[in-house]
Amino acid sequence: MRLSLVIPCYNEQEALPHTVAALEPLMRDLMARGKISADSNIWFIDDGSRDDTWPVIETLTQRSPLFVGVKLSRNRGHQNALLAGLLSADGDAVISIDADLQDDLAVIEKMVDAHASGYEIVYGVRQARDTDTVFKRWTALRYYALLRFMGVDIIPNHADFRLMGRRSIAALGQHAEVNLFLRGIIPQLGFRSTSVYYDRRERVAGESKYPLRKMIKLALDGITSFSPVPLRLIAGLGGIVCVFSLVMVVWVLCVRLFTDRALPGWASTTVPIYLLGGVQLLCIGILGEYVAKTYAETKGRPRYLIERVERLEPGETPVRRSDGEPVR
Ligand code: UDP
Ligand code: MG
Repeated sequence: MRLSLVIPCYNEQEALPHTVAALEPLMRDLMARGKISADSNIWFIDDGSRDDTWPVIETLTQRSPLFVGVKLSRNRGHQNALLAGLLSADGDAVISIDADLQDDLAVIEKMVDAHASGYEIVYGVRQARDTDTVFKRWTALRYYALLRFMGVDIIPNHADFRLMGRRSIAALGQHAEVNLFLRGIIPQLGFRSTSVYYDRRERVAGESKYPLRKMIKLALDGITSFSPVPLRLIAGLGGIVCVFSLVMVVWVLCVRLFTDRALPGWASTTVPIYLLGGVQLLCIGILGEYVAKTYAETKGRPRYLIERVERLEPGETPVRRSDGEPVR
């Protein structure tokens, strides 16, 4: 079985040397033991980095056919970089993993074994998240619960560390959506799948490339790309407000007709104005979120553009030695 690892990299110049130092021996060991074929490879997807990530990748590709570099024309975000990698990689099975080595590499072998025993998709699931901040852990848990409530089928505590076989990648390739949320799309592909468990570690070097802003965007994409539930909630809310207003009307009429306290108070006039204004704005906002999604999808723009691919062709001799120095 030919294995491809896919690693999205955004400003990872500090982490990449550590990543390579850990992954290269692991791949060579798996090859030596015949678990994966000798033409297995590691794909680095440079997601429009602004630092020296691409030169680092390029140097690697000049040294061994084990490394393949793909450079996207600009930063398109983790999900798109990952997709670019999944759809470009040529392995019989592809494992996606982050550049920061937070995921346990020993799990790669377990994934390969699971695939060999007939599972098309193998999810890496985090057992402990001690290294994440309390805030990140708590929001993640609440978010999974919310997604389940909205009817989105995801694997809790699974990020994008997973193995996919050729068939499921081909199926994924048929999805043309621009608002990508791979963790939602892949479980609903079907296919025989299983999970392997591991503990998540600290990032080896550099800082998180997922600031709160990107986390919120990913979270909203997860909901609005998969679930019509927010729209139904709006309708429900509208219904409740209507019933409430009807009661108010009846009450006002009763006061007007059967009592002499018919001067409508300030509260009963202004409160509904504020309330309705707020509810309407909220609802328009949620509607707008879906309209914006539809807009992006109808344009059908490409999700990523590959600027160049660097790799040694079969038979081509490396121009760099394994220590990175040029061959003379
Ligand atoms: N990443 C990317 N494009 C982006 C942001 C992140 O390709 O716009 C990559 C990043 O290089 C890393 C992976 O996505 O390999 C996960 O990012 P990070 O580790 O910073 O996220 P965290 O683990 O903090 O959620
Ligand atoms: Mg990370």
